[in-house]
Amino acid sequence: MARIVMKFGGTSMAGTERIRRVANIVRAQAARGDQVAVVVSAMAGETDRLVNFCREANPLYDPAEYDVVVASGEQVTSGLLALTLQALGCKARSWLGWQLPIHTIEAHAKARVESIDADALLASMEAGEIAVIPGFQGLSEDNRVTTLGRGGSDTSAVAVAAAIKADRCDIYTDVDGVYTTDPRIVAKAKKQKAVTYEEMLELASVGAKVLQTRSVGLAMKEKVRVQVLSSFIGEGAPPADDLPGTMIVSEAEMDELVEKGLMERQLVTGIAHDKNEAKVILTRVPDRPGAVANIFEPLAAASINVDMIIQNVGRDKGETDVTFTVPQTDLARAQALLEDRRGEIGFNRIITDSKIAKISVVGVGMKSHAGVASSMFRALSDRGINIQAISTSEIKISVMIDEDETELAVRVLHTAYGLDAKD
Ligand code: ADP
Ligand code: ASP
Ligand code: MG
Repeated sequence: MARIVMKFGGTSMAGTERIRRVANIVRAQAARGDQVAVVVSAMAGETDRLVNFCREANPLYDPAEYDVVVASGEQVTSGLLALTLQALGCKARSWLGWQLPIHTIEAHAKARVESIDADALLASMEAGEIAVIPGFQGLSEDNRVTTLGRGGSDTSAVAVAAAIKADRCDIYTDVDGVYTTDPRIVAKAKKQKAVTYEEMLELASVGAKVLQTRSVGLAMKEKVRVQVLSSFIGEGAPPADDLPGTMIVSEAEMDELVEKGLMERQLVTGIAHDKNEAKVILTRVPDRPGAVANIFEPLAAASINVDMIIQNVGRDKGETDVTFTVPQTDLARAQALLEDRRGEIGFNRIITDSKIAKISVVGVGMKSHAGVASSMFRALSDRGINIQAISTSEIKISVMIDEDETELAVRVLHTAYGLDAKD
């Protein structure tokens, strides 16, 4: 007997037909004698629809009420899956975020899970009941509904898996694993048998939306075994227990897979893109100590994440331009905050551009090999793609380019690093 968490994303839950398909996969897992908790997303497109309602109701919406609205998508699908499982003869019940409860911090719309009271859940699972839990939602310290940020159902699943000490957390989605890049952009992308936590964390944080970044960080910390696999499978498909998807593994496990010849040691594991950032340039900022602190402190205080930062070499007059990126959704707020502090910061103009994309290559092999960055720059320049900014970490290189060149850049780099599938 194993204890398994199964998470189904929005495309897998979109409509009663697909929910029936999901219910069959869940029933098959339970029929193997396992204790099963299922975490579900809202139907594809539903959360966007609910977010739009909030914007229409009040452009400056209160995040606490936003959470009440957007958490409802998952309430619907959890009830529907429980009903469908019951129709198939299974014992099943739903557990809403506030019923377990899933305790989170109070940061509405981007809450973090603090703890989960799992006793009642475990008792029900031990009695043979399938637990269906809406993803994305939790409960704040002052008893209000919270949500975990877009894509947050992955994190709900991993948090539940950690709380009930599950043997595995299977993330069912609309692709059959983690690929070398988004398979919807590059047809020759290769499915990976395994990816390390560290690489998956970096890939997710630079835009590979197959797993929410926080879910990977949590899985790494809590040592949750995570598999990414497809819910769009036929009758004869191998069971999840045979690990047909991609496993997220530790570096030691990866070494073992390489030794056994099951994985190749790769310099670059994956390429990701992100079109959700915007560029901000502040011109003629005084080139003196404290100038950049004056720019970034108000942004940090407003929880606006700044990513790439470039400060140009100072001009003769003791001035410099500062360029950085922020999420597009925060651009208007960032602009307003900076305008408010124009006198204090002392810049001349704010120039913004949302038509940019960030392309990143990720691989632990970079720690020990030189030349990964230079081949990236050469491959892009050979295709006439201009690089506007660069940032690096130990296992990642990101460049900012024109948004229109995103797909081309991803394809060119995929080929340049020898990642294209053979046939
Ligand atoms: P779900 O609704 O199941 O949570 P998401 O849409 O959040 O699914 O994530 C799955 C999508 O992630 C895929 O359809 C694919 O287009 C995209 N994706 C981006 N990068 C990758 C990658 N490296 N490997 C697999 N899928 C990726
Ligand atoms: N429904 C939420 C979203 O669309 C959470 C999720 O699907 O993971 O962001
Ligand atoms: Mg997702």
